[in-house]
This record gives sequence, C-alpha cells and structure tokens, in this order.
Amino acid sequence: MSKSAVIAIDGPAASGKSTVAERIAKELKFLYFDTGVMYRAVTLAVLNANIDPENEAEVSALAGKIGIDVQPPHKNDGRQYDVLLDGSDVTWAIRAARVNRNVSLISTYKGVREAMTSQQRLIGLHKNVVMVGRDIGTVVLPEADIKFYLDASVEERARRRFSEEQKRGVQVDLDQLINAMKERDRIDSTREIAPLRPAADAVILDTTDKNIEEVVTEVLAVIHTRLELSGM
Ligand code: C5P
Repeated sequence: MSKSAVIAIDGPAASGKSTVAERIAKELKFLYFDTGVMYRAVTLAVLNANIDPENEAEVSALAGKIGIDVQPPHKNDGRQYDVLLDGSDVTWAIRAARVNRNVSLISTYKGVREAMTSQQRLIGLHKNVVMVGRDIGTVVLPEADIKFYLDASVEERARRRFSEEQKRGVQVDLDQLINAMKERDRIDSTREIAPLRPAADAVILDTTDKNIEEVVTEVLAVIHTRLELSGM
C-alpha cells in the first residue's frame, strides 16, 4: 500500500502495543518507533552514573546530554531493534528490573519529557511512521492521522510479560510483576505532564481476550478504512 500517514499507538505496559506496531509497520512499510526505549535509556544512564533517580535537576541535565539511537537489529536474539546509548548496545540492559522500577519516576520530569518529546516529534513528522508510547496521540503527535489506545487487564498484561521474560531465561515472580505493573500504571496515569490516557479521537481496543493476530487484523482494518476514506 503506497499510502502516507502518521499512526499513534498508546497504552499501558504489555497491552500489545509493540508487537502490534511492529507487525503493522512491516505490513505498511512504515518506520516503527517505540518511544519507551528512550525513557528506559535515560533511566539506565542515570543508574549507571550513580545519580539519585529522585534528583530531578541532575536527571534532567543528564537527559539533555546523552545520545540515544535506535537502529535495525544487528543480532537475531529476539530483539525488534538495537538501542544504543552513547554508542553502546543497551537493547537488553534497558529491560532490567532496576530500570522498570525507576523509569516511571524519571518519566514524570519536565526536563526529561521535553528532551525526549522534541526528538520524537522530529521522527514522527517524517510521516509513514507507527509511533508507540503513552502520550503519542495526546502530546507528541496530536495531529497523527490515526490513533489507537490498546488496553488489557493488569493480570493479563503481567502474564504476557512473565512468559516473555521466561522465554529470555529471566526468572521473575508473577505477583511481583503484577504489583510492579500496577505501580507503573499508577505513576504513568497520574503524572502532571503528558499522563497515560486515550486521546479523545483514539480507537480504544481491549486486548485482554484477544491474541496478537486478532488485534493486528482489527488495527489494520481500521487503518485501511481510514486511509481509503481520507484518500491519503
Ligand atoms: O513502553 P515501556 O514499558 O517500554 O515504557 C517504559 C516507561 O517509559 C513507561 O512506564 C513510562 O513511564 C515511560 N514512557 C512515557 N512516555 C512514553 C513512553 C514511555 O512516559 N511515550
């Protein structure tokens, strides 16, 4: 399909956003960009520099200095892309439990959000992109042509994350995952700047009882209908 559009997909952790976005981007030959990796990379940089995550000024200053890059995957180990932090491959390091524990706090900081949002807008304005996050349809690209908000029960989302971690050989406790996810949801949806919530014009999909194929089919159907209708 030689259409051109900006597609925003928001939602909480493990709602299916990344998998669905990667699939539809491939189908449409669009760029897939997961903004969560940027907040994770900042968090990793903060922890590696032994900066206190509660120190907003130091965290924000660091966020403005580091270089985050996302490249096509150079290894076939289950990754969707390579994430580079100042040139080093941190693709799996940004998924560590210590990053999960601190990323939502760090993502509440104005300085951090401004630094990340401006880079994300530049990528999004190139068109032909599927951008994934928490605030893409509301703040980063409010002019996006089509917006989705994927959701699922916290128990189902934790189960999905549990089996992903197990596949990678990482031992995790399901109850701990549920609690950590609830806490991340709470911080993400109650923060002052760019909270997690559906855009007024988003298509909301509950993926709790659906498999990826079903969600991909539904999302693609909406995209095709919208693009046909608008003649884009
Ligand atoms: O999507 P992912 O779980 O990798 O995102 C990690 C964290 O980054 C989220 O819990 C949220 O705190 C933050 N984030 C954000 N805005 C985005 C994407 C992610 O605040 N657009």
